[in-house]
Amino acid sequence: MSVDFDAEATVNKQIICDVSKVLYARGLITVNGGGVSIHTKKDIFYLPTGGICGILEDEIKQIFIGSVQTELKDLCGGAFEFPINNCRAVVHTHSENARRFAEKHKIGVFETKGNVNTKAIWNRATNEKYGNVFLPIIKQVSDENALLDAIRKAFHENATTYSVLVKDHGLFTFGSTWQRARGEAEAFEELFKYNI
Ligand SMILES: [Zn+2]
Repeated sequence: MSVDFDAEATVNKQIICDVSKVLYARGLITVNGGGVSIHTKKDIFYLPTGGICGILEDEIKQIFIGSVQTELKDLCGGAFEFPINNCRAVVHTHSENARRFAEKHKIGVFETKGNVNTKAIWNRATNEKYGNVFLPIIKQVSDENALLDAIRKAFHENATTYSVLVKDHGLFTFGSTWQRARGEAEAFEELFKYNI
C-alpha cells in the first residue's frame, strides 16, 4: 500500500506547528532557537531556527522538508541525521531552566534516583520508562558539525539515554515518536526547574 505523501506531510507539518506553539508559550523554545522536527524514512520536516508557529505568517508554508540523506542543515531546527537509530523526532529546548541547570552541574553525567519528575523519561537500553535518570551534559561548541559529532559521541557513550544537555545551549531529546520526545523533553524541563 502506498503512503499518501501529501496527507502525511500535512499531518507532520500541523504537529510541528502545534507543538512549537505550546513549547514557545512555555518558554522552552525561543525565537533564537529550539524546535521540533519529525523524520520519516526519507524526509525531515522542520521549522528553520527561529521559526515558531503563532508568530509566523503563513506558518504551515514555512515548514521545510529536507532529506534525511543530506548533510546537517539546521541543528537547532532539527534538520540533521539523527545520532540514534529508530528515532523519528527530536525536541530541542532553549529554556532558561536548562541553561541554569547546566551552569550548576559539571560536564559528565547527571544522575538521579527515584525522582518524581522522570515518569516520561525512557531508558534506551531497555525501552522502558526510567526510575533513574542519566543525563549526559556536554560543552557547547560553536561549529554545528562539531557539536553534532559531540552529541553523537555522548549517545554512543551513554547507551541508556535519549537526551543530552549542551551547556550554554539547551536540551536535545530524541524519541521513536514525537509524543515520546516531547514528553521526555518536558519531563527534563520539570526536573531542571526543581534542580537549579
Ligand atoms: Zn539550539
